[in-house]
Amino acid sequence: MTAWIGLTGGIGSGKSQAAACFSALDVPVIDADAISRQLTETVGSIALQQIADTFGNDAISVSGSLNRAYMRDLVFQDKTARQRLEAILHPLILEEIQRQKDTFQAAYGVIEIPTLIENLHFQRIVSRILVVECNEISRLYRVMQRSQLSEQMVRAIMATQASDAQRTAIADDIIYNEGSLKDLQNAVLEKHLYYLDTFRQPEK
Ligand code: ADP
Repeated sequence: MTAWIGLTGGIGSGKSQAAACFSALDVPVIDADAISRQLTETVGSIALQQIADTFGNDAISVSGSLNRAYMRDLVFQDKTARQRLEAILHPLILEEIQRQKDTFQAAYGVIEIPTLIENLHFQRIVSRILVVECNEISRLYRVMQRSQLSEQMVRAIMATQASDAQRTAIADDIIYNEGSLKDLQNAVLEKHLYYLDTFRQPEK
């Protein structure tokens, strides 16, 4: 049976980059964010139907996929709206994660889940929690370089996420991503060897 490591961290901490490093080592990687995007891009999907029923047609763009800008503004202004959106998406994401899990056979795999710390349902589906940590200024700088988001928007996203203290309190393992990409690769390799050792199947 494959053991699953939950990989998380604040926005811009480098979790996707860390996930790519695990993937380069042939570790199975499941991306909860990609699943969420796929659920809300597929025109006519159950997720989009439920979102339209709950939030009205403004939540759907002309092309039929999710109106991301509209929903992003809504969930920043209204915590209840965020909870209602999560109540629609999380069960569908969990279902798809389970489906993908069943397609892999390895000593261990990684599930990248941005909101792992904030969400007990996600914590229950992993054996260990690996947190990628990085100071706030570097995270801000990296996200603004990566995306079109303003400093104000990145700070607003950070404010909705768990704090560094909450993340480290719940972490089983931590990677400090303050150095170069090579440093990150080395840190991932170290965890990889540790997980292989911990979760290797006994020889029959
Ligand atoms: P997250 O998935 O946690 O939001 P990413 O993995 O997308 O963060 O990293 C944010 C940005 O910073 C990306 O453009 C990524 O390539 C870059 N990045 C991550 N780690 C490093 C690093 N150690 N050195 C330089 N750039 C990095």
